[in-house]
Amino acid sequence: MKIYLNGQLVDKENAKVSVFDHGLLYGDGVFEGIRAYNGRVFRLDDHLQRLQKSAEAILLALPMPRKSIEAAVLDTLRANNLKDAYIRLLLTRGTGDLGLDMRKCKAGATLIIIADRIELYPEAYYEKGLDLIVSTIRQRRPDQLSPGVKSLNYLANVMARAEATRAGAQEAVLLSTDGYVTECSGDNIFFIHDGAIATPPVHIGLLEGVTRKVVMELCRDKLGTPAKERLFTPFELYRADEVFLTGSAAEIIPAVRLDGRTIGSGAAGPLTKRLIGLFREYAASPGSGTPI
Ligand SMILES: *Cc1c(COP(=O)(O)O)cnc(C)c1O
Repeated sequence: MKIYLNGQLVDKENAKVSVFDHGLLYGDGVFEGIRAYNGRVFRLDDHLQRLQKSAEAILLALPMPRKSIEAAVLDTLRANNLKDAYIRLLLTRGTGDLGLDMRKCKAGATLIIIADRIELYPEAYYEKGLDLIVSTIRQRRPDQLSPGVKSLNYLANVMARAEATRAGAQEAVLLSTDGYVTECSGDNIFFIHDGAIATPPVHIGLLEGVTRKVVMELCRDKLGTPAKERLFTPFELYRADEVFLTGSAAEIIPAVRLDGRTIGSGAAGPLTKRLIGLFREYAASPGSGTPI
């Protein structure tokens, strides 16, 4: 496996960064998780735009223009002979000293691109659905570091996921400090009630997923039922007909239980299944991504 590291494609064994990299010392950096389908990198422009916005928000300069990062992603996929893949792109503050001062990271950002085959959840979960819990960990308030930054500092999400695992569930729902649903530890969330589709609004504080955006496009253009962005509590999820999560790795995946309550029929619902079909169809179509 070849890994892209600061301008070079190196063997996995040699893909090493300094222990003084602030990405390691402080989680100081940003990342993207991207998919390639059928020889095309899914919505690569959206991902690179979000990467740039995340980097700008933490005062991190891109080490090269966006077009060159795009070329590096495509080179990495070609070097590994991948047409369908999961791509992890990391941009860290780079090598500094043990202090917090970012000015000490003189060499600039470290850019890493890893392309591999992965499947996040076994196929059975797309039929039978996931178990969710409401996490005791609250989403960061938007007046702290914005949850819209796809930050390497992921410990709250990791702990929320661990909480789900320890409860025998697969994912954790993060509430805002005043109790509204924001998203899950690594995925956005939607629910359907009486044919209406809803998802939390971005301003509440959540990571604005590319998959979320694509699903909203599919709801509007293919289902003729635009998804409404509005506030809701776990109670509305308990009584929903269908709940599903979205993310680059998970794609669209149904959720059928929340804190021990069965949602809807307790299995993947008809609209969720339709959206999964529409999403897969779209992902396989030429307009959905950048050719490798
Ligand atoms: C990346 C991520 C998502 C999903 O975003 P996609 O662009 O669809 O992959 C949702 N929530 C969090 C916290 C994330 O980090």
